[in-house]
Amino acid sequence: MANKVRLGKTDLQVLPVGLGANAVGGANIFGEADEEEGKRLVRAAIDNGINMLDTAYLYGLGRSEELIGEVVKETGRRNDLVIATKVSPIITENGRIYNNSPAFLREETEKCLKRLQTDYIDIMYIHFPDESTPKYEAVGELKRMKDEGKIRAIGLSNFTPEQLAEANRDGYVDVFQGEYNLINRSAEQRYFPYMREHGISFIPYFPLASGLLTGKFRKDTPVADYRAKDPKFQGENYIRNVERVEQLRGIAAGKGVEIAHVVLAWYLTRDVIDVVIPGAKRADQVLDNLRALEVNLTESEIAEIDRIFKD
Ligand code: NAP
Repeated sequence: MANKVRLGKTDLQVLPVGLGANAVGGANIFGEADEEEGKRLVRAAIDNGINMLDTAYLYGLGRSEELIGEVVKETGRRNDLVIATKVSPIITENGRIYNNSPAFLREETEKCLKRLQTDYIDIMYIHFPDESTPKYEAVGELKRMKDEGKIRAIGLSNFTPEQLAEANRDGYVDVFQGEYNLINRSAEQRYFPYMREHGISFIPYFPLASGLLTGKFRKDTPVADYRAKDPKFQGENYIRNVERVEQLRGIAAGKGVEIAHVVLAWYLTRDVIDVVIPGAKRADQVLDNLRALEVNLTESEIAEIDRIFKD
């Protein structure tokens, strides 16, 4: 099993492959999410050495946190784990209400602690920016909760670079979560320089491009599920994406692994990335993704992958 690494400037130690838990109890996102399978896959992750679990209120409107809380309690391994969750918008019939006021962040953090059955959260993210709260005041409230021991690291997600800079006025932000994968590499220009300059660890979401980067999609694979509305699974875009993914098959075969493992290992060669959090619907996918830790890419393979997905 690979060694743990320090997460950015925090004092958290993580196995470089974690678990993205938006499908655990996430029936509001995926429809088919089976709760027992969700618990099984969290158990499989913990039993096999994964220690970072990434969840949010938004995943099942608290249900993901509750299921993770149950499993963590059963395992008795709370202190080995790095649990990340997010204060998310409230969902109403008329849409989402974003609120990052200090009072709301504190109330929601208390609710997260209850759902997770714990007395501290390793990484507390603000899931999305709101319109009215000065960004540094929202982060300031997280800093107060950090000083009180309720949270151990401060995260932001889905903030624009300008919003992030405002939020990090006092230098309190530890980690940032944003979309990044071989198909959408815009974060390299938009966020990575700021991450480097401020010692913030970048945690990519959609690392497998919702499964496209596993190599299980071929040009003629019908895409009729939750992915059908996603532009990268549509028309010419889709064909071009599959063609590029196919070019990874040789590198993966040469190492006796699958494309997903090469892709995840490639992210871990980026200087601002310490950990990846691929999502999983089943326990076997969790175990499979751990094989990324077996992959050592040479400089020329790293450059070749960069070239294939350059534009
Ligand atoms: P992802 O990691 O790109 O894709 C995960 C999906 O790929 C799985 O649900 C599964 O879907 C498929 N898959 C995973 N491992 C596989 C394997 N070994 N073989 C074949 N298929 C496999 O996308 P994601 O789960 O949406 O994103 C990762 C995590 O990032 C989430 O779980 C969540 O924690 C976080 N996230 C955060 C935000 C944010 O706003 N901060 C947004 C999105 C996600 P199928 O079985 O359906 O193919």
